Amino acid sequence: MAMTPHRSPWLARARTSWARVLLWLAAAALAPAAAAQTAAAVRAAADQQQAAVLETLKTLVGIESGSRDVEGLTRIAELAAARLLAAGMTVEVLPSRPPGFDPRARGSERGPMVRGTLRGTGERKVLLIAHLDTVYPRGMGEKQPFRVEGDRAYGLGISDDKGGVALVLHTVELLRVLGHTGFAELGVLLNADEEIGSAGSAALLTQLGSEYDAVLSFEGGGVDIDAVRLATSSTASVELRVTGRASHAGANPEGGRNALVELAHQILKTRDYGEPGVGLKINWTIARSGEVGNVIPALAMAHGDVRAENAADLDRLEARLAEAARDRLIPDTTVEMRMRRGRPAFRANAASRALAVHAQAVFGEIGRTLDVRERSAGGGTDAAYAAMRARGGVLEGFGLRGAGSHSNDREYIFVSSIVPRLYLATRMVMDIGAGKVSW
Ligand SMILES: [Zn+2]
Repeated sequence: MAMTPHRSPWLARARTSWARVLLWLAAAALAPAAAAQTAAAVRAAADQQQAAVLETLKTLVGIESGSRDVEGLTRIAELAAARLLAAGMTVEVLPSRPPGFDPRARGSERGPMVRGTLRGTGERKVLLIAHLDTVYPRGMGEKQPFRVEGDRAYGLGISDDKGGVALVLHTVELLRVLGHTGFAELGVLLNADEEIGSAGSAALLTQLGSEYDAVLSFEGGGVDIDAVRLATSSTASVELRVTGRASHAGANPEGGRNALVELAHQILKTRDYGEPGVGLKINWTIARSGEVGNVIPALAMAHGDVRAENAADLDRLEARLAEAARDRLIPDTTVEMRMRRGRPAFRANAASRALAVHAQAVFGEIGRTLDVRERSAGGGTDAAYAAMRARGGVLEGFGLRGAGSHSNDREYIFVSSIVPRLYLATRMVMDIGAGKVSW
């Protein structure tokens, strides 16, 4: 066999792979510099948006949008839709239709939702959610206009959740300014019935949660300390209904079956079924029985308020209540204990935890610390609906720092939280979209 005058293929391969390693080493050495450059560019762009965010907040607060104010909600939805459109998104304004919706029923009408989508060139799909509705009835806003005092910007609904809406709009805008499309898809969903339970938007939120790799929910981001949340509470109620038999209370009491006494028995037995250690609460709040003073009551009902941090705790409580209903004090009475589940609890999965850890790192890029809350403070949010069948992670608390939600003339956000939180949201979209957060 003749000697080849050329380099052996092995040597050529080795040289190529060494070249690759060297290139990789060079890239690795430059990566921190590139990352720092990105951080500086996003930070500078976020800085430039602060005045515009305040202007947006003023505009949003200026449109009253209580959950039942369809006219106000339609106006604020149109404004948000126009902003997303201008930022390059494909936008739809969608009706909110709770299950069993009947347009003839009084008060059943809900405000519209706004959905925006933008295709990109990256790896993962990111969804940003916030709500347009507030708890305040029409007329309250007129007497309490938007105003800035020192570091505080006041306004009805500014912390819950117009600050979140403003941040979503400006995150999309900031990405446009930066010319960044390094995500598979960027989505926005702004709903209009969060404060009344999200019945008209829950199904869509759950569907989108199953389609997007990550959902960032823009409810308040803490009060004095910046935070994100890995848990929110669920709400539920119990309807207790006792059926007995009526009879004359004077002439024939033994002929009756006293529903009121059985109700009292059930309430006393179940009042301690809460488990404070895990955030499970049951509190009886309403009871009704009897109409006439000399009749043994045949009917009695009670209502209990229930809070829990996860579905398993509710299941356990429901089972105990069912068992309690079988053990009766008054023979021949019927006891029905029916639990109605409202908003579910949100519990973080591994992907949500990975998002939280990454959010802390991103916030660290601008020299700030981000608190990650493991326990719910008692409230429920739409993060729970997004997480029900999530294919990836869900994280709550991307809104502005602020306080005074659901109060009168004391609701505000911290102006100094605008730039850091805008930076956080924008950088999270960039890194998740590029596949830099793994779970
Ligand atoms: Zn809210």
